[in-house]
Amino acid sequence: MTLKKMVDGIVEQGARFCDVRKERWDVNHLVLKDGNVEQMVSGEEEGAMVRVLYGNGWGCVGTSALERLEDAARRALAMAKQNHTFKEEKTGVATINPVTCKEYMPAKIRFEDVSFQEKVSFMKEIHNFLERDWVKSADIIYRDSVVKKEIVNSEGTHVMMEIPRLVTYMVVTGKENGSIQQASEGGGGTGGYELREGAYEKVDTVLDRLRDLLGADTAPSGRLPLIMDHHLTGVFVHEAFGHAAEGDLVTSGNSCLARKLGEMVAGENVTITDDPTFPGYGSFPYDDEGTKARPRILVDGGKLNDYILDRESAWKLGLEPNGGARAEDFRVKPIVRMSNTLMKAGDMKLEELLEDVHRGIYARSSSGGQVSPAQGTFQFNAQVAYLVEKGEITKPLRDVSFSGFTLDTLRKITGITDEMKTGVGHCGKGQSAPVSDGGPQVLISEVTVGGR
Ligand SMILES: [Zn+2]
Repeated sequence: MTLKKMVDGIVEQGARFCDVRKERWDVNHLVLKDGNVEQMVSGEEEGAMVRVLYGNGWGCVGTSALERLEDAARRALAMAKQNHTFKEEKTGVATINPVTCKEYMPAKIRFEDVSFQEKVSFMKEIHNFLERDWVKSADIIYRDSVVKKEIVNSEGTHVMMEIPRLVTYMVVTGKENGSIQQASEGGGGTGGYELREGAYEKVDTVLDRLRDLLGADTAPSGRLPLIMDHHLTGVFVHEAFGHAAEGDLVTSGNSCLARKLGEMVAGENVTITDDPTFPGYGSFPYDDEGTKARPRILVDGGKLNDYILDRESAWKLGLEPNGGARAEDFRVKPIVRMSNTLMKAGDMKLEELLEDVHRGIYARSSSGGQVSPAQGTFQFNAQVAYLVEKGEITKPLRDVSFSGFTLDTLRKITGITDEMKTGVGHCGKGQSAPVSDGGPQVLISEVTVGGR
């Protein structure tokens, strides 16, 4: 039976909607610890998820037993019928244009054409570049994956796509004069083995940062002006703002941006987009419901312009779906996710941002933190920071964290540089999703700075 016949058969039995997403994954994962291969995993996996909407109830069944897919579809229908009996809240899927297409994202060098040996040599080379007498340990993580997806729904959509991705991380620990510090950098994107080249550029960045950390002082605390580097700007737009712009959080009362469309939520100088068509680690041609990817201008000159929406959250809000549905793999249903989240560059130079700071902080790169999209609050830790006095960077600082209200902070952005950079990451929201985020360097006129 074709996938199309299967989903149509479910609708003939009374379902409002049915889709199936078939996936095949080829993944290589390598970990090099202090120059030795600690993990080497190569896996192939296939499976599919069937989703059925019956009345107001969803039934979703994922299986790796593709020969029993029709059985999975029947179970999904039974589950949807069952769920419908409990559900009081009305739901639906907003309309999208049915499409038939094949889209293979390009890889100059395909991962399957590169031996394990060669991948290990690349990692060993990076490790050798990181060696210093003050570097105590260095871990290199490498992962490449190719996913082939086929999405068929009861409305006539048939999307086939292939997405290759590569990511590398280096985590370096240094020790000097009794101080032990750690710095890390990641790189990668959507494409082939050629993307590994980016890792070489990160070696000096991570070593310089570690060097500064080893000689760093503890940070002052209080309300201070703070400059975020590109990486922290990216973390800010993703974590503090982007999650609050996710349609499912908006419709479930868990977002500080609910009912604010069209309102000013930031200064006029701030524009934030989430764009799966931008070349990044979070790029894709169609989302996991078969909706064509397009840029979402979330904030346009300070005004809240759009949310990130899958078909269900779009239905609930009376808006158009914009390609926001992503699933970690075939075992789980797609939920609203970000892709490549970016703040638009401005027209200033870093020196001009610094000139405006009498006494403040220049914070670089992130090492975690926490946010509450519902309350609209954030707290981020910088990997390293620098004290700025009378417009000059005077000394490195460690253990710097800063916190505040997201929307209040977006209104306090008084300087934005003219160049942007992006970083890679894995966003966790019950499921993991590859994402990029980034932007220019940004001066916040006042934020709460504290030690950790
Ligand atoms: Zn996230």
